[in-house]
Amino acid sequence: MIAVRGLTKTYGQKVAVDGVTFTVEPGRVTGFLGPNGAGKSTTMRMILGLDRPTAGSVTVNGHRYTDAPAPLREVGALLEARALHPGRTARNHLRWLAVSNRIPERRVDEVLDLVGLTEVADQRVGKFSLGMGQRLGIAVALLGEPPVVVLDEPVNGLDPEGIRWVRTLARQLAEQGRTVLVSSHLMSEMALTADHLVVIGRGRVLADCSMPEFIAEHAASHVRVRTPRAAEGETLLRGHGLDVARTGDELRVQGLDAAGVGELLGGQGLLLHELTLVRSSLEDAFMTLTADSVEYSAAMPQEAGATR
Ligand code: ADP
Repeated sequence: MIAVRGLTKTYGQKVAVDGVTFTVEPGRVTGFLGPNGAGKSTTMRMILGLDRPTAGSVTVNGHRYTDAPAPLREVGALLEARALHPGRTARNHLRWLAVSNRIPERRVDEVLDLVGLTEVADQRVGKFSLGMGQRLGIAVALLGEPPVVVLDEPVNGLDPEGIRWVRTLARQLAEQGRTVLVSSHLMSEMALTADHLVVIGRGRVLADCSMPEFIAEHAASHVRVRTPRAAEGETLLRGHGLDVARTGDELRVQGLDAAGVGELLGGQGLLLHELTLVRSSLEDAFMTLTADSVEYSAAMPQEAGATR
């Protein structure tokens, strides 16, 4: 378990992480989601004892990471900025880490196989592609078979097959009862991987809930109705206290599910050409939630081209 309590980190005037509190439970994948610059990496670095908090505390399995005698066996981590010796081979890099953490050497071959790097194990890591580097980073994280795994943007640089592989791996690690924290700036990625979500923006927690709760709370839905008697339909539904917007023969109804809307209209003999439940995408929900916390947002194309 990872317990983050009131964690704060400032760099000069800049507040990178601002009183963040959340718990990462074992046996499930917790997605750590936020736009670039939200404070994900800084928080993860503090969890791993690589950065000193300005205020607050972090414990991993009840104690501070730096107190652990064999860190790689306690917490496995892939961080965005990898510190690799470019002249070393992948195998030597892993061997050196195994020896210094008293991990049996046979584990080196196991993790090389697990991440699909066996064939290139004796090549220098300086020549590795971004994706191969990510795989090696994940091999390092898993080397000590740690109960807690922290992966910062693990799918960066991976091809679709690699992305699927990371997703499956994260799920397997959680199923084995491990504590898994995975960061991403992509909601679509989290939707497929995470059971639980911690969303941050500008260093603050914006949401901390299960994936289904996030969907129920933030992904708004409405019922789209098309009927030749739209004006009548609008009056009828409004009469039942529903929120209705009409454009031509189309109604956009909020406050009731599709079956309920269909029954109200059908009960008055209104012919329906369409009755559809429309859910806004999770990506939209995430964008709305974090809209005020995006640090460097690009102008939308239509805004950029607009003349004022
Ligand atoms: P994320 O991982 O969510 O993209 P980071 O944790 O990397 O976000 O960064 C959070 C904020 O802190 C950003 O504004 C970033 O520029 C700033 N920051 C991160 N590290 C440093 C540092 N070493 N010195 C100054 N500012 C930093």
